[in-house]
Amino acid sequence: MLFFFCFVLSCGKEKKEKVLTQEDIRLAMEQGLDSLFLNKEKFISNGFDFPVGKPNAKGYYNAQGFMENFHLGDDWNGLGGGDTDIGLPIYSVSNGLVIYAEDAGEGWGNVVRVVHKLEGQGFFNYVESLYAHCDEIFVKAGSFIPKGYKIGTIGNADGHYKAHLHFELRHDVSLPLGGGYATEYAGYLNPTLFIEANRKIPMIY
Ligand SMILES: [Zn+2]
Repeated sequence: MLFFFCFVLSCGKEKKEKVLTQEDIRLAMEQGLDSLFLNKEKFISNGFDFPVGKPNAKGYYNAQGFMENFHLGDDWNGLGGGDTDIGLPIYSVSNGLVIYAEDAGEGWGNVVRVVHKLEGQGFFNYVESLYAHCDEIFVKAGSFIPKGYKIGTIGNADGHYKAHLHFELRHDVSLPLGGGYATEYAGYLNPTLFIEANRKIPMIY
């Protein structure tokens, strides 16, 4: 009887929500993201935290800020310097949908991209967060995740850099991966300023 009960319980755990395929995401990005968040109200953003040292970046510093040396994001480093932060956790800055989670090749390493819906709030309907040079990644494209979810760990892109998190925030969610640096900032947000201004977003549902 006990065995049967455990069996039923473990089967129940296996039953997961359907994960969107890359094709689902591609089509929705073309036709409008609203369809993806249908019946997913609990994954609409209720505010933003920092991607390391949850929730306030405690124990980390921003070694290269937005627009510094034409940088398109922030570079989060552990206070210990060097590679002391390798393997430490990276968290999703808000509720959202993972749209990309894979090795993007030399210079980028493992990259995670998450779309956040801000319906009815602020200036933007959607923003995207991007986490690069990850040592490991724990999410798959098509998964909905809550704010603070551990999406991966800090890495060094196969030894290209001293370990750090390259973190971008974009209000144009249709941009390609890009190159991390550019002389044009259209579509990009200053991540730290945006997070500080949007720590709490009141839910309208
Ligand atoms: Zn960077």
